[in-house]
Amino acid sequence: MNARGIFRHPIALIGYLLVVAAVAFVVARRWNAERDAVVTRTQIAMGTVVEIQLRGMSEEEVRPAMDAAFAEICRVDTLFSTYVAGPVWRLNHAGDTVAVLPDELHALLRRCDTLWRDSDGAFDIAIERLVEAWGFGGDAPGIPSPDALREARERSGWRHVTLLDSNTVRLANGVGINFGAIAKGYGVDRAVAVLRSHGAHDALVNAGGEVRCTGGQWIVGIQHPREQHRLLAALRSDGRAIATSGDYEQYFEANGQRYHHIFDPATGQPARGCRSVTILAPDDMTADALATAVFVMGPSKGMEFLRRQQHIDGMIVDDRGRVSSTPGFDRHIQR
Ligand code: ADP
Ligand code: MG
Repeated sequence: MNARGIFRHPIALIGYLLVVAAVAFVVARRWNAERDAVVTRTQIAMGTVVEIQLRGMSEEEVRPAMDAAFAEICRVDTLFSTYVAGPVWRLNHAGDTVAVLPDELHALLRRCDTLWRDSDGAFDIAIERLVEAWGFGGDAPGIPSPDALREARERSGWRHVTLLDSNTVRLANGVGINFGAIAKGYGVDRAVAVLRSHGAHDALVNAGGEVRCTGGQWIVGIQHPREQHRLLAALRSDGRAIATSGDYEQYFEANGQRYHHIFDPATGQPARGCRSVTILAPDDMTADALATAVFVMGPSKGMEFLRRQQHIDGMIVDDRGRVSSTPGFDRHIQR
């Protein structure tokens, strides 16, 4: 796909209603603007702007559906938190003991185990010590000292995690889990489930670029990784979830280099080779996880990986701005 081609047909011409999240790398909108008005609510959660759009519902129906969906997103946020004293925090502070987890979290760890295997270790949630060493959990990210980096690498990696029966898990001493690579996608999936249970069947949920739509056709814009106000592509979601990982949201620059928050577990360094990766998948947690995994694999291994997957498509922008995508991804582009 040629990224420039898309911009010969300005998005504005199609007449979208744009709703841009403050940190957005996604601009989302419904494309066949007929009938009912879209009701939009946004809230800060999961470290980003979460936006829900509902269509075809009365005011009385909208309020409880929105309230319940945002409450669910906040619950997921707390569930995954590494600094509020919830299950992940306790797990990360359990030392070398066996920890008992809620069903939901244990099931998610099993899913992350599969993702680790399938991605050949590129996707690895046992990287909390790396996140801390590079300072991405706090306000002052920076290059860690060689000693701090060595220590963080020794205490990182899924090989230090043992999943046991009966919802139990053991982490080697000092190892920490960080669900940052799937939290938003999972939160979006959960919000969509809650919306459906409230009768909302024509909806869009966008958590800082991780997006899922139900019902009619929606168009989702993918932000250009270097030009904040430009779209790289506009996609018809066609019921599939969309997630983007990029090096342009959380990063700092030092010695003329960009250092961002997606780590190559093999090196302990920010993964090189990609500027952004966008994935289409049946659910948003999978899309979110694979966007991170393919970003780590880099453009060539990442594209090979994508071509082997079923029901998954993707687009990769490499470190020189060159765009590649799977044929299935191109079929979703709104031209
Ligand atoms: P974003 O949060 O911008 O959507 P991602 O979905 O790629 O980006 O998630 C990045 C987060 O995932 C990091 O902040 C960190 O918490 C975690 N992470 C970093 N590297 C990896 C990795 N190789 N595998 C799994 N999780 C990672
Ligand atoms: Mg992710």
